[in-house]
Amino acid sequence: MRSLVRGGTIVRGTGCERADILIEDGKIVRIGQGLGELFSDDEEVVVEDAEGSYVFPGFIDAHTHFDLHVGGTVTADDFETGTKAAVRGGTTTIIDFGTQYHGETLKQALKNWHEKADGKCSCDYSFHMSISDWNEAVSAELDDMMAEGITSFKLYMTYPDMMVDDRAFYQILKRFKELGGITGVHCENSGIIDAMREEAVKRGEMGVWSHPATRPAAAEAEAIDRLLRIAEVVDVPVMVVHLTCKEGLDVIRAARMRGQQVFAETCPQYLLMDESLYRLADFEGAKYVIAPPLRTKEDQKALWEALENGEIQTISTDHCSFTTKQKELGRDDFRKIPGGMAGVETRGVLVYTYGVDEGKISLEQMCQFLSEHPAKLYGLYPQKGCIQEGSDADLVVLKPHVQDTITAADQLQNVDYAPFEGTRVTGRIETVYLRGEKVVDRHELVQEKRGMFLKRGKMQSVR
Ligand code: MN
Repeated sequence: MRSLVRGGTIVRGTGCERADILIEDGKIVRIGQGLGELFSDDEEVVVEDAEGSYVFPGFIDAHTHFDLHVGGTVTADDFETGTKAAVRGGTTTIIDFGTQYHGETLKQALKNWHEKADGKCSCDYSFHMSISDWNEAVSAELDDMMAEGITSFKLYMTYPDMMVDDRAFYQILKRFKELGGITGVHCENSGIIDAMREEAVKRGEMGVWSHPATRPAAAEAEAIDRLLRIAEVVDVPVMVVHLTCKEGLDVIRAARMRGQQVFAETCPQYLLMDESLYRLADFEGAKYVIAPPLRTKEDQKALWEALENGEIQTISTDHCSFTTKQKELGRDDFRKIPGGMAGVETRGVLVYTYGVDEGKISLEQMCQFLSEHPAKLYGLYPQKGCIQEGSDADLVVLKPHVQDTITAADQLQNVDYAPFEGTRVTGRIETVYLRGEKVVDRHELVQEKRGMFLKRGKMQSVR
């Protein structure tokens, strides 16, 4: 059976084009004008009228944490609920963080993540691999990871259970350079944060505000700088994930001035929320406890400008959801508040509303940040990330001018609150195709668990 998406405005990183899209066997087989005329009268064909709507390549969220054990609890969303929410919001591919815990092989870690995800996903999926225990045996396993289609890795500069030291950073980056793997790094200076947390506890300041107060922007910038200097010595490109602040941006700019290739990711919460939320009464601020923390309005402005200037390449979500009950674990001690929040469902419409509709970024840039760039950087292009003949028919039909409000009552994210509760949005994710199958219709999920594991290739560069 063939389907036709007719009359929409196709969005690409390079420009927009009004054209029909013909889909067959899960692939885009033809793009052009008047493709409806190709069909004979007796052929059964599904026609989607996209007149007046934008048609984006399926969004890719390269930063999710589903079914992750953190600080004695487990994220509210697993792969089943998380990917349902994702696809309803236009995300047809997620890349979650497989995690090697101390004493585990990477093979074991990958097996664990396949067990969590396989058969449960409503969008396509892959894994990065977080390395927390570096040794020669793990180094030798990296060839197998690349062969399994795990071509991107994650390293932490903070969190005692996860972080590796500078010596390991150097060695790991050197191995990735040989293999052509790309590394995303959580950059925060662990020593500064630990010391400041101890001070806050000694002063008896156990409330939510101590979370941002003990994770200053300078601690993020220092870690980015150290990472980029190690990458400079190794001579390898790296990705700074969830960049939050101007200080961090300045360090990235300096590295680029030296001739280094650096990629950066940010998230809607850092573009649209600020640290004043940590001052909310009645422990409400705990809902926004994430790391790195929300910053200032000036930082938001700097991040938007960096997007506009092409200095940030991707917008992901860092979806890591906990219920208000789980957040209660830290009511008397900010260090015990599970860090993270939901976002996988609302990224597309937020970026459209506050980026494109408000004139901060173009439609083409939105396509780059949400689809094209993550596809290239994480080895999925041109199967994913673009609307071209031969690509997977992952399509998002976004209807502009529809006014809506984000509410927890409406979401598929498995949490009792929506971080963007009450936020006005313009535009609605009307229809989503996953490899040619309509999985979202009139903004409702109509097909579940059609997701497939994606073996990824090597990084392709983006400007
Ligand atoms: Mn994360």
